Amino acid sequence: MSDAGDALSIAIATKNQRKSLRALPRLVRGSVGLAWKADRRALLLSSTLELLSGISVAAQVYFVTKVVAALLASQRGEPVTAAIAPIVALAALVTYGGVSDAVVRQQQRVLATLTERLTRTKILDVAGAVDLRYYETSDFYDRLRRVQASALTRPYFLIVGLIGFVGGLAGSVSLVIAVVVIQPLLLPLIVLSGVPLWLTGRRASSREFDYAVDQTPVQRLRDYLDETLTGRAEAKELRAFGAVAALRQRYDRVYDEFVAILRKHVAAKQRLSVLGSLGSGLLLIGTFVVLIWLVDRHHVSISQVAGAVVGIRLLSTQINTLFAGAQQIFESSLFLDDLDDFLAMQPGVGRRAATVTAPYGFDTLDVESVSFTYPGSDRQVLTDVSMTLRRGQVVALVGENGSGKTTLAKLLAGLYEPDRGTIRWDGADVARYSPESLRESIAVIFQDFVKYQLTARENVGLGKPSNIDDVEAIAKAADQAGASDLITRLPEGYETMLGKQFRGGQDLSLGQWQRIALARAFYRDAPFVILDEPSASLDPRAEADLFAKVRGLLAGRTVLLISHRFSSVRNADHIYVLHAGQVLESGSHADLMAASGLYAELFTLQAAAYVDG
Ligand code: ADP
Repeated sequence: MSDAGDALSIAIATKNQRKSLRALPRLVRGSVGLAWKADRRALLLSSTLELLSGISVAAQVYFVTKVVAALLASQRGEPVTAAIAPIVALAALVTYGGVSDAVVRQQQRVLATLTERLTRTKILDVAGAVDLRYYETSDFYDRLRRVQASALTRPYFLIVGLIGFVGGLAGSVSLVIAVVVIQPLLLPLIVLSGVPLWLTGRRASSREFDYAVDQTPVQRLRDYLDETLTGRAEAKELRAFGAVAALRQRYDRVYDEFVAILRKHVAAKQRLSVLGSLGSGLLLIGTFVVLIWLVDRHHVSISQVAGAVVGIRLLSTQINTLFAGAQQIFESSLFLDDLDDFLAMQPGVGRRAATVTAPYGFDTLDVESVSFTYPGSDRQVLTDVSMTLRRGQVVALVGENGSGKTTLAKLLAGLYEPDRGTIRWDGADVARYSPESLRESIAVIFQDFVKYQLTARENVGLGKPSNIDDVEAIAKAADQAGASDLITRLPEGYETMLGKQFRGGQDLSLGQWQRIALARAFYRDAPFVILDEPSASLDPRAEADLFAKVRGLLAGRTVLLISHRFSSVRNADHIYVLHAGQVLESGSHADLMAASGLYAELFTLQAAAYVDG
């Protein structure tokens, strides 16, 4: 693998690179910052309500002792009305708890959506900016999927965990104080009862993260098969080949694997929960035994016992909330660490720091001994390729399937950098230039161009995103590409949704889609135009029309044309023949025919098919 490939696999963290608890404060700060940015009102309101809720439980204990004391006193002849005030206070506190919970829940829903939105946008920013090399590795898709699936909700879970933790902490501390006021001897037992939950909770969190890592590739394969089995484009081929049943079996096998991983994970987590709860339960029983012993020794009164029992019961709930919060914080932090690593991916990993703005176009483009291997592969796809393109020329690239034409086009379009060799614009190595500025001068349409399921206007307008609304200019580009008739015939003209995925969408034939894609390239209006099989799906008339017009339309620009149609290639100013990643021959049509090499052979083969005898 190349150096850049190594850098890539290092940049793509695996579960082994998980960081420890040390990162927790930073992640907590990050999440609170995120929630603050998302909706500070909701954050402040729900934290304050939770805090007050926590404190109010201790007040409940106090009023329970008051009620019990008043009732005991009434048996000794004092007026029972003394119990009314503490009962009312108790009711008010319980009501407050209910209202506060409801408000916090609703506030958190809004907070969830807003933090999710912030995280989603950040993920999209990174996915849209990272080097294309990332898209060559399955690791990248696994991580993208993982951060999309879980990290989206995790900042929010961390906040919920944190708010729960604050409430639980306030509740626990105030209850501990209340219980200690009743009897200090109960304290150590109460504290101990939380320890098993804390220990098992942390183990459970690590397992949850490992599970997410293990299950992502299987989940992605399952989802892919799901899409294939329900996709519109796939539906006809699957039926024609009778392949549905076979793919369903494949799907079932993947699903079985998915379920098996889940079962194993759930069993492990259940064992941990049972252990934690058993430990806490045993310690709680110990606490009550001590309490009974204290009553027996007359160290505490009956009303104090009532308070203590309620207090301990409430405390176990608060301690549970506290540890659940802590667990949620810890667990979310593992996922957030993953998210942080994803977000830290630099746009140009594997790229030299290039900040110089590229000039707009060139007079001469030189490719010097360029070699290239795709990341994650060890087969060199281009070897020592050299060529020259001059402004205003139409240069054609021909060669058999897999000879490296598209790859070379990607390098020239500034989408990849060569492993060895140089691409120069007017003598300057383009590696100096920022890729974005370089691409400003380039319009490229690949064989597998995108069929945007958006309006016709957007399909063309995306060629020059800064001018996506200029209907007049868009119509002009469509006209040049021979697409304007087909667009104006659509029910809503340029505002018609293309494709069948959304309401009112109109599907086009492949050739019509190709005209739209060409219109997009023309609309970009760039000095360097790369057309990879631009006529593969056009009918003969449209194709002839396109090539007759190409020179006029693109006059003054440099055109790199990849095509299998020799009739369209023969008029090029210069032709390069690629074979197994190397330039085999080059020259004008006449030169190459005279040389009687591969070009002449392929040309004659194709021409012979068109003439009788
Ligand atoms: P052409 O355009 O001449 O048909 P390509 O440039 O598409 O050829 O492909 C050249 C070679 O590179 C082929 O052998 C192909 O298998 C390989 N290749 C193409 N794309 C990738 C990729 N993303 N990763 C690894 N190998 C690739």
